[in-house]
Amino acid sequence: MQMLVQGWIRGSVRLEGDDIVLTPKGSDYLLPGQELPIQLAGVRSPGEAVAVAQRFGLLRKGWKETTQTTGDLREPYDDWRQVALDLNHIMGLVLDLRLAMSGNTNGVERLRAARSKVIQNDPADDDDRVQQWATITIAALMTQGIGDVEYRLEVIHRRDPSRPVELGTWMRTLAPATMLSAAYGELAEYIDSTQARELRHCADCDRIFLVGDPRQRYCNTTCANRAAYHRRAQRRRSRLRNEPALDTDSDLLYAR
Ligand SMILES: [Zn+2]
Repeated sequence: MQMLVQGWIRGSVRLEGDDIVLTPKGSDYLLPGQELPIQLAGVRSPGEAVAVAQRFGLLRKGWKETTQTTGDLREPYDDWRQVALDLNHIMGLVLDLRLAMSGNTNGVERLRAARSKVIQNDPADDDDRVQQWATITIAALMTQGIGDVEYRLEVIHRRDPSRPVELGTWMRTLAPATMLSAAYGELAEYIDSTQARELRHCADCDRIFLVGDPRQRYCNTTCANRAAYHRRAQRRRSRLRNEPALDTDSDLLYAR
C-alpha cells in the first residue's frame, strides 16, 4: 500500500554544533520509497545526515508540526547516528537470515553471535532455533520502529481549480507519523515483498545497499571508482616490481 503524507515539513538544513537544524520553507508530499531506509542506514557523518534531511526532512518532525511551527526545528546528530546503527542491525539480521536459510554457515554463525548477546548461556542454540529467534526479533524490532501510522482514505486532487477533486474515487494510504516511522514502513514492505530485492554489503565501504543488477558489488559510483583506483594502483606497483598482478578483477559495475 502507498505510504504517503501530505504537508510534510521541508526546508533548508544545516549543521549547528551537534544538531541537525531545519529552517522550514513550506511543505510537500512525503513519498519515501525503498531508498529512504537505505539512505538513513548509510549515515555515518553529520554531513551525510544533513544531506538526507535536505531530501526527506527530519526524523521525528513531520506533518503534525506543520501547522504549529514557526522558527527552526532541530534534532541531535547522535539521534541520527543511533537510527543508522539500529537500521543496520536489523538489515544485517535480514541479510544473515536469508544467507542462513540458503544453507550458508557464515550467516548462521553471525545470527548465533547476535543471539548470544541477548540470550546468554542457552545450550539449545541449534541452527533452527537461531533462525527462529532472528525471524521473531526482526518482527519485534520492525514493529517497534514502525510505531505510529494512520490508515487513511484520501481524495485524489486534480490540477483543474474548477473541479479540484476526482469524484467518487479514493485512495487508501498509510500516513506515518514521522519520517523514521516511514523508513521502517518502507523497510517492512521490502522485507515482506514477494519481489524483494537483494540486500548486500558494499565491497568498498561495507554499507548495505539494494541490489539493482546481480553483478553490482558497490553501493554507488564513488565506491566503484575508489575500488577501481586502488586496483589500478596495485597493478602499477606489481608491474614496477615485475610481479604478476594479484587482482585482475575488472568488475566495476555500478547499475541502478
Ligand atoms: Zn560503498
